Amino acid sequence: MSNATPQAARSKLTTVSGVRVASPPGTVLGMLVADLNHFLDMSEDTPGPARRLAGHLSNIVRAATAGDAGTAWESALPCRRRPANRRCPGRMIVLRTEAGAPIRWQCSVCDDEGVISNWEDSAFDLRRRQLTLAEPVSEIVIPDEVAAALRGLQLLDTDCERLVFRIRAHNGHAIRAATDGDLDELIGFVAAEANNEPNRRRQQRLDAAFDALSTAAQTPDG
Ligand SMILES: [Zn+2]
Repeated sequence: MSNATPQAARSKLTTVSGVRVASPPGTVLGMLVADLNHFLDMSEDTPGPARRLAGHLSNIVRAATAGDAGTAWESALPCRRRPANRRCPGRMIVLRTEAGAPIRWQCSVCDDEGVISNWEDSAFDLRRRQLTLAEPVSEIVIPDEVAAALRGLQLLDTDCERLVFRIRAHNGHAIRAATDGDLDELIGFVAAEANNEPNRRRQQRLDAAFDALSTAAQTPDG
């Protein structure tokens, strides 16, 4: 490149509008390319940022495998970015096509995006293993804090985990389609965990989630 003209060098800079684009390892032009295997089984002394990224990516895998394949949809998962120390208000749009192809994700507001490979059959793969009969579902609207509390539940079985990670973003709220049986089961999990939660603040969040779900269960479509 020693014989590149100054003009060529200048036009190269202007294509990125004078902004220096940092490309940390694992990113291609700002896109985060991740192999899920690299984020599993992190040790206790893994630095916080790496652990938070692992949590973010595993939640994306859970959402993408809990929801339908073939179409991109906006999950209730919040964006991880904090431009100017303010949380980006965006939500994760996820797209899963088929096993063997990476899961794609992008923020609904900022330009954060990436792909995740080797998600198949991981602990976060929530795809149904068998066909189930379609039951009537009703859509319920729940506050964002409740959706976050539900994602933090420790004792969920796979069916309930799938319910929680299928929650979609909708006009600043989270929205969830559930059958009455699903909802009752989820409420049971929340109640059990609230009873066993020693931390008072977490218990209050769970109690609020319990109340919101119980209200929603009584007034579907409201
Ligand atoms: Zn964002």
